[in-house]
Formats: sequence, C-alpha cells, structure tokens
Amino acid sequence: MKFRVQLVIQQSALPKRVSNGVKHYFLLQIRSLVFIFFTLFAAQAFADDKAILAQLDVIQSLSDRDNDEGLRQLIAFNKNLPADASPSIRLSILNILSGLYFDAGKSKQGLETVQEFERLARQLKDKEALLAIEVFEAYDIFEKSGNDAALTHLKKLRAKVLSSASVSVQFRYRATLAAFYSNAVDSGKAIQEYFEMLKLAEQLPRRQLQARMGVWEAISGLYMQLKDPVKALAATTEALSIASDSITPKAFIELTLQRGAVLSSLKRNEEALKEYENALRVAKEQKLPYFVAQSLFSIADQYLIKKDFKRAEEMARASIEQSQALEDDWGVTQAKINLGFAMGGQGKIKQGAELVNESLAKYKKANAKSDIELILDELSRMYENAGWYKEALATVREQQKLSDEIFQSDRAKTVATLQEQFDAENRKKQIELLAKDNALKDADIRNHQLRQQVTLLASLVAGLAGCFIYMLYRRSKRLNQELQEVNSQLEFHAVRDPLTGLYNRRSFIALMSTRGRIEVERREGAYANPDCMILLDIDHFKHINDTWGHAVGDIVLKEIATRLRNVVRDDDMLMRWGGEEFLIFSPKSNPEQITSLVDRVLRTVGENAFVHGDLSIPVTVTAGFISVPFSDVPEDVCDWERALQIADMALYLGKTHGRNRAYGLAKLLVPHEDAIPTLTHDLAAGIKQNMVEVIEVLGPPQAHTHTFNLTHPS
Ligand code: GH3
Ligand code: MG
Ligand code: MG
Repeated sequence: MKFRVQLVIQQSALPKRVSNGVKHYFLLQIRSLVFIFFTLFAAQAFADDKAILAQLDVIQSLSDRDNDEGLRQLIAFNKNLPADASPSIRLSILNILSGLYFDAGKSKQGLETVQEFERLARQLKDKEALLAIEVFEAYDIFEKSGNDAALTHLKKLRAKVLSSASVSVQFRYRATLAAFYSNAVDSGKAIQEYFEMLKLAEQLPRRQLQARMGVWEAISGLYMQLKDPVKALAATTEALSIASDSITPKAFIELTLQRGAVLSSLKRNEEALKEYENALRVAKEQKLPYFVAQSLFSIADQYLIKKDFKRAEEMARASIEQSQALEDDWGVTQAKINLGFAMGGQGKIKQGAELVNESLAKYKKANAKSDIELILDELSRMYENAGWYKEALATVREQQKLSDEIFQSDRAKTVATLQEQFDAENRKKQIELLAKDNALKDADIRNHQLRQQVTLLASLVAGLAGCFIYMLYRRSKRLNQELQEVNSQLEFHAVRDPLTGLYNRRSFIALMSTRGRIEVERREGAYANPDCMILLDIDHFKHINDTWGHAVGDIVLKEIATRLRNVVRDDDMLMRWGGEEFLIFSPKSNPEQITSLVDRVLRTVGENAFVHGDLSIPVTVTAGFISVPFSDVPEDVCDWERALQIADMALYLGKTHGRNRAYGLAKLLVPHEDAIPTLTHDLAAGIKQNMVEVIEVLGPPQAHTHTFNLTHPS
C-alpha cells in the first residue's frame, strides 16, 4: 500500500522507449487517464456543500494553468477550512491535493496526502472512495506480482464497480483495465474499454472534454502498439481538436509527447524532436518536473535515432538525474536504457549492456512483454554492431521466444475468430478482405489448414515477420471496424454545438477534409471566387461573465448566434469555433461581398446592446478574415488551416488596436515564399514590411468606451 499512488504516477510517467522509434506504450496510455482520475473523482461524489465546492472548482481550474499556484492556494484553503466542513469535502480536497503534489514533484507530501485520504475514507466508510482505492490497488499488485495478477484483481471488481460506482469511478476503472489489457497485448479488449469510456465521458459531471481527450490519446497509444502510426496520428489530431481551445499545459505536454512518439515512428524525426523540445519547454515553464524528466528521456531517444550518441547520453543523464530527484524509480529505469544504448553507440559496449540489462530485469519482473521485446530487439542490434555475435544470437533467440509467446496467445483467438467468419454469411467478403493487403495473401485461407501453415511459416521465417504482420493486420482490421462505428456515433452527436445550435468545429473540419476535391473543381474553372473565412471573438467576454455571471454569458452567446444567423447568406456556414469564438465560412465570395458581410457582422452585434430582463449589456466583437485560397497561393502551400492561423493573427491585431473592428488580408504584395511564414507568426511585422494589403472595417461607434459599469445588477 505504501507506494501505491506514487507508483501510479511514476509508472504512468514512463512512456517511451528504445531508439528504433517504437515506443513504450502501456504506461503512456494510462498517464493522461491517471490525472483525469484525480480531478474527476473529487467533486462528483459529494455534492452537498455547494459554496465550498465552487471555490474548490476555481482553485482546480487555476491549477490546470499554474500547478504551483494552485497547490499553494489549495493548501491554504485546506488549512482554513471551517471546522464543520463535511468530511466528504475533506476527501475531495485531499484527492486533488495529492495529484497537485505529485505534479509538482513533491512525491513525499503526495504520498502522505494519499495515506490521509485512505485513512479518512476508511474511517468514514465512504463507499465511493473505498471503491476507488480498490481500483487503485491494481497498480500495487502489478508492481508486486505482475500484469496478470493486476488483471485478475480488476476483473473481480467488475460487477461491484459497474453496478454501484459513480460514472467517474467507472470511468477510472475502465481506464485502468484497458491499460493492463493493453500491456498484456490484448488490444481487442482494451479498445472495448476505451469505447465504453467514450460513452461514459459524456455523462461525467465535469471535465468531459479532458476525459474524451485522454481517451483519444490512449487510443492513439493503442494504435502505436498495433504499429499503425498513421491512425495513431489521426487519433492525436482528434484529441487535439476536442480540446484545442481549453487545453491545459499538462494535457498539452502529454499530447505533444505522444505526437512526438507517433511522428518518430513515422520517421518524421525532426518534427518529433521539435515536439519533444516543445514539451520540455512548457514543462520547465510550468515547473512540472515529471514532465521535464519525461521530455528529456524522449529527446534522448530521438538523438539515439539520429545516432548522435553524445547528446543522447547527455539527455539520458539529465533525465536520470531529474527522476532520481523525484525518487521516480521507473523514470530512472527507462532512462538508463537509453543511457545504455548511448554508451553502446560510443563503443562502450560492456558498460552500455550492463545498464540496459539492469533495467531490462526490472521490465521482466513487471512482465511488460511488448516492451521487453522492443528492448531485446534493440539490444541484439547493439551487440551485432559491436561484433558480439554470441550475445547477439542469444538475445535474438530470447526475443524470438517472446514474440512467439505473444504471437501464440493471440493466434488461438485469431484462428477462432476466423472459424466463426467462415460460418458467417459474409464469408466471401471477409476472405477477400483478408487476402488483399495481407502479407499472407498467398496462403490459401479458404483452407482450414491455415493453422498449420501459419505455424510452419512461423518456424521458417526468422523473426516471425510474416505472421506478425498478419496478426497485426487482423487486429487492426477489427479495431478499424469498431472505431468506425464509434466514429459515426460520435459524428451524429457532435455536428452541432449544444448551446447555440450552430455547427461546431468538428463539422467544419469534416467539410474541409473534402477540400482537395473542391480545389480540383476550382482549377478546372467551375467557379472563380475564393472562399472566405471570418473568425470572430467576443470582446471582453470574461468581463461579461464576471459581471453578470456565466449563465448570462451563455445567453449572450446564444443571442449572438441568432444575430449572426440573420446576417449570413444561405450558402454560408456559421459555426461556434470555440468558447466565445465564431467562424463564418463564406464560399465563393468576392471581396466586396465579404467586406459588406464583415460590416454587417460587426453592426449586428455592436449596434444594439443585448437586453436581458432589466439588464442592458453592450457587446462588440473583433474579427479577422481571409480568403482561401489566399491571394492565389496554392493550397498545398497555404491550406485553410494556415490561412485561418493568419486570420487569427489579424483578429489579434484587431484586439490590440482597440477591438470592435475587423482586419482582413486582401492580397500578398511579395512572393508567398517570403510572406507566408512571416504572416503566420508575426502579422504586424509582415504589414510593416509591406508584404500584404490589409483591409480595416470598423464596428459601430460605442456610446461608452468603458462599457462595463453601466448596468451592473444591483
Ligand atoms: P478579449 O477581448 O481579449 O477577447 O477578452 P476576453 O475577456 O473575451 O478574453 P478571452 O477571449 O480570453 O475570454 C474568453 C472567455 O470566454 C473565458 C471563458 O470563461 C469564457 N467562455 C468560454 N466559453 C464559454 C461558454 O460556453 N459560456 C460562457 N458563459 N463563457 C465562456
Ligand atoms: Mg477568446
Ligand atoms: Mg474574447
């Protein structure tokens, strides 16, 4: 029990490994979910003391942005809690507090807080908290007795959790289960749990976005395990699109690290390195030491790929040092492997091998099979390069035995599934599908001797390559079908924004994914005018929320949606782009039409104050607009996302020039090779250098420059 939660965090802080670009996935998958757990569990179960909970909420949001400050405030809050505060509130606070301690690298205090949480839960016999503790126990069991034992423990809890626990604990339960399934290379079961989690996420009392984002991140990890980095990348994009507006630094770092791992296995090494460095920067800025260690480790990994062993060593050492300071054993273990390979790369084979083997022993104890296999693979290559053929051979043998085992355990299932499919009506189609890209397409799969053939092949082909691919193919096929189902469900629910009824960001991205075709039509002269995008952001909206409350803020959002609906053309697509941002996509528009549309938009919002009961609330918006294709630049150079980025810069310019106005980019005055990179990063500089022609549209005059103290409710 003693080290339980520390382990949770530390194991989960243990994602990537080995320099062939294939990473350690298991713990990557749980990492984000662990953090979600800390934050979800809290307020949901105990909803009695509303005022205190609201305060807690505020501190928690603060901690999303600034962990240290959040921690400071929560400690103070805890200290000054009224003596008669309900015990369940205390449980909530302890729970969140422990998470913040761990994030701040204060494992000792984190651990003490967890123990206090447990004591209190037992003393109060709080069912919900006790159940959560039981779920947590799985990590402890994993550490002591390995993966299978952890799974057994969780399976035993299943009925109890699913019948009596809150949505939050159920969510956490499934996350834990999925992680251990995936560690056991049982991806089918893991994905099942993730899909259930997506459904549960919609019922969570709070932090739904973070939860959904975490699940997609985990799905991305699973795809990595199935060696399908293209889909893994798509899953990270999905995760980003869910939370891009409200993404917190922690979530950002997690996702960035994950994207780096994916890019790395796509051999996009420079991009991967950039992602990792980005994660490191934010982790340092935010003083999140676990993430610093993690990023350093990943960077080391990337240098190994580049065969820059000196720097790999430097980074691995830094990661070890950081992890040691945090007493993070797993962090040290994983970084030592990279250090070992870095030494090996510099000719210090003996020293390197010792380090790797020391860590490997720990992985073996935890029975993390797919990771062990990856490490062995890399190790055998190191031996081979050094001419240590005896060791290389022994390592290869060990690796093959393990692959065999992984393969065997899955093959029985695969064959059973195949058998069923033979009996099914769609038998023919399945066989065709299987035969298609399948590496075994020459094998006669109609024949029931598949099993023998596969076995034969397996023993013939060194490294089992063919079978392995076959198995992965089968798995990803199944996974794909399931993913597609979920996707279509998601799409159905997710085209519209529930508050305003407008289209949402997702539906626009879906529309834009057909853009390649539109472009072809355009080039063939079907129509000449470009499409236009107008991005809007409400001015001082925070002030509206702060002054009149969030509910009134929501009403303003709805009213703006209505007003905008009345001024756009039938063909225009109007959507809620993010919290208080809107986007108008106006296809095939000429510049005059756009300027007049922008003018109508500014006026419809700014001309008349919003009236709600006795309140009269003046509201204005600021906008940025641009066409796509922009200034005849081909869309493979400046696609809609890039263009929108520029429009966002224009909007920002509008904010700094006094708000209630719009800036549009008319056309480029210099070759796009020079202009586009500047405009996306520093529009003001681009304008100064005369790179682009800008249109300014001013909003209606405002009666008061300082609008907000006028009609404050008494
Ligand atoms: P600026 O003029 O610079 O845009 O100032 P601002 O106050 O609008 O600043 P910012 O754009 O950063 O503020 C966005 C605010 O919108 C913060 C957030 O609380 C609020 N918000 C986001 N989504 C919603 C929502 O769905 N309802 C309500 N009521 N408020 C929201
Ligand atoms: Mg905003
Ligand atoms: Mg705003």
